Amino acid sequence: MNPLLKKFKAAPFSKIDNEHYLPAFKDLIERTKKEIDAIVRNNETPNFHNTIEALERTGEQLNLVSGIFFNLNSAETNDEIQRIAQEVSPLLTNFKNDLLLNEALFKKVKAVHSIKDKLDLSPEQHMLLDKQYKGFARNGANLSEIDKLKLREIDAELSKLTLKFGENVLAETNAYEMHLTAEEELNGLPEGAKEAAAHIAEDRGKDGWMITLDYPSYIPFMKYAENRELRKILSLAFGSRAFKDNEYNNEANVLRVANLRHQRAQLLGYDSHAHFVLEERMAETPQKVTSFLNELMEKAKPAALREFHELEQFAKELDGIDKLQKWDSAYYAEKLKQKLFDLDDEILKPYFELEKVISGVFSVANKLYGLNFTETDEVDVYHKEVKTYNVTDADGAFVSLFYADFHPRPGKRNGAWMTSYRSQQIKDEVNERPHISIVCNFTKPTASKPSLLTFNEVTTLFHEFGHALHGMLANTTYSGLSGTNVFWDFVELPSQILENWCYEKETLALFAKHYKTDEIIPMEYVEKIKESFTFHEGMQTLRQLSFGLLDMAWHGADPSGIQNVKAFESKVFETTRLYPDTPETCMSTSFSHIFQGGYSAGYYSYKWAEVLDADAFEYFKKEGIFNKTVATRFRDYVLSRGGTQDPMELYVKFRGQKPNPDALLKRAGLLKN
Ligand SMILES: [Zn+2]
Repeated sequence: MNPLLKKFKAAPFSKIDNEHYLPAFKDLIERTKKEIDAIVRNNETPNFHNTIEALERTGEQLNLVSGIFFNLNSAETNDEIQRIAQEVSPLLTNFKNDLLLNEALFKKVKAVHSIKDKLDLSPEQHMLLDKQYKGFARNGANLSEIDKLKLREIDAELSKLTLKFGENVLAETNAYEMHLTAEEELNGLPEGAKEAAAHIAEDRGKDGWMITLDYPSYIPFMKYAENRELRKILSLAFGSRAFKDNEYNNEANVLRVANLRHQRAQLLGYDSHAHFVLEERMAETPQKVTSFLNELMEKAKPAALREFHELEQFAKELDGIDKLQKWDSAYYAEKLKQKLFDLDDEILKPYFELEKVISGVFSVANKLYGLNFTETDEVDVYHKEVKTYNVTDADGAFVSLFYADFHPRPGKRNGAWMTSYRSQQIKDEVNERPHISIVCNFTKPTASKPSLLTFNEVTTLFHEFGHALHGMLANTTYSGLSGTNVFWDFVELPSQILENWCYEKETLALFAKHYKTDEIIPMEYVEKIKESFTFHEGMQTLRQLSFGLLDMAWHGADPSGIQNVKAFESKVFETTRLYPDTPETCMSTSFSHIFQGGYSAGYYSYKWAEVLDADAFEYFKKEGIFNKTVATRFRDYVLSRGGTQDPMELYVKFRGQKPNPDALLKRAGLLKN
């Protein structure tokens, strides 16, 4: 008997064999189709209950099994799982496409949507109805047959082109290598980076050292290599990816993608691709995004210029550099930072023992939301390193199951993330509590040393735990609107806000204790951490904003008149440029975030989320970082509400006012109070 086809509470990891997945997916897709057929065949007049809610409740077991399978494919994969994923993914895509093209079903959803104001719906029900209706409409369900066909053609071409865009960037990244044979050419590089470079050379059957355009090789070289000429060569190689006169050039792809996206948006009745994307974002319109970015730019620019001149001066004094270039930026910034802060990860790490940091983050959750975490070994896990906790509230009621998987293994992808095995929902008057997980890649303990974190890893843990709280404290009726199922530019608020606690004395006193002596981290270190946090924030901000403005320039208006990618981009960068432009480089041709990935008309959201978290944390700071009233408001209006209401409305309910960017500027040291 297939354990994935039985009802289960916690994921039955130890009972699952790889051969269970494919038959389970096939079976569950068929089951879900039958559930959908039953909705379509229902003879009653379509209403919220028999159509919208019924549709929301379909495929429950399929969702649970997908959750298990795709989470494992990230956290504990192998060739077999990857092979199954290749088979399963098209099944799920086809199923989803069939659903969105199901005209009989759409007719019913549309019928309910057209009378939505006459129905007595709660705000959450309104959101669900809108979300479902838009899911169809934004996919062309309202179009004529001819236009539907056009839309499919555009979509097919877009998916090919964006794939090709990424392949070109990858090919160009992989095609380049800088072979060095004299050791002095690597002067300045830390031992680890040198060893890595020797390793790459050895792998490629060469002697000496090899630098590539992969980040782990590229970044340390730009930061540390004393040889300015080599930094220039490498920097230009990086910046000219997919912009050279060869088969991997992306200029035509960029223009075609921008134009197809615009045509697609127009076909669906939107002014531009950005209008289409932002309809389902907190930012709402391209005008709001652009003025948001420009307003921040006006305020960040003086600081950026100040920092830039300071860096110029520093490079001149140190090495007699006359004109600071792009390939000097990381190098002199690193040197200046060392001079100003002298803050080494190795000095801080003994104060951040993983076990203590974990109990620290649990204490924060306890002080803010009254949560208690009790480790249990009664929950099935997919690897013996995974820890599980029962989470209860101040009254002892069960809140969530929490999985934590901290250390790297072969088969786990890089980075850190939060995920869930079961979303919270209220069904048949039962509040089904969620099963939430975080996965990280922190150094493993050894026989002689516990796992000691860098400060960056500490903030990463708080970040992912912030997402986890969003999942754990969810309290909504429908799982599709529960927890982190919110608009894209709102989802980082709960995670980023929690990072702020890491910089506070009160919090650090809870857990930043030397692993040998138990001594609390010295205040001078804390001050340095804070100061180094705002180092070159003006320039960093300007850089982020310039990417956001470029994204909006490509997607916020009709691009059909654009002839030359580089010329267009140079014009956009005019107001944010610090370093001299180089004619042989282009950002757009390798801007994978927006031309390959899903960040088109969305790059602004990094800064948007920072504005939200800084503004929200300022409220905590004012009332006390563990103030119960503020914490309760944050839980009641943000963490527990998921996507059940418009995020701006929720935010204003919590904060009492709209977010003000000044809090971010103050935190970044760009605005003196
Ligand atoms: Zn995040």
